[in-house]
Amino acid sequence: MNTPSLKLRWVLSEDEVRRIAELRVTDPVAKQWLARLLDERRRLVATIQGLARQVHYLRQRIGQAAEYLDGLAGKAEETARAPWPTQQPCPRCGAAIERVAVDYRPEHGHRTVHRHPDGTVCEGTAKEHPAAGPGKVGGRHP
Ligand SMILES: [Zn+2]
Repeated sequence: MNTPSLKLRWVLSEDEVRRIAELRVTDPVAKQWLARLLDERRRLVATIQGLARQVHYLRQRIGQAAEYLDGLAGKAEETARAPWPTQQPCPRCGAAIERVAVDYRPEHGHRTVHRHPDGTVCEGTAKEHPAAGPGKVGGRHP
């Protein structure tokens, strides 16, 4: 993810606040403006801190939601594999494997292929093609 950096300096530092507080200002209008500046700074700091807490909470909730959804998907996956309880799941598509074989093609050499009960044939592993779905080599086989 490419998030733009927010290195904006929009809050007076603690050192600047200390230096402002130490100023010997006699003009009442200037004193009033400095007091307003420090009040604004306190409000801004509180707002930024509040946002940080909200983002932290949101990230925790997103993590919980992802965990919950993964649990639901895991149960659905278990149900889908139930008819083939002894078969291993395909590393590429997750469906039960009927048979593992080695396929040879001149352009790729020898590769492991996974044949499924529905005739689908997957080639390779999820590691080789992480974003891919079932990798059909020959579609249905006899
Ligand atoms: Zn597969």
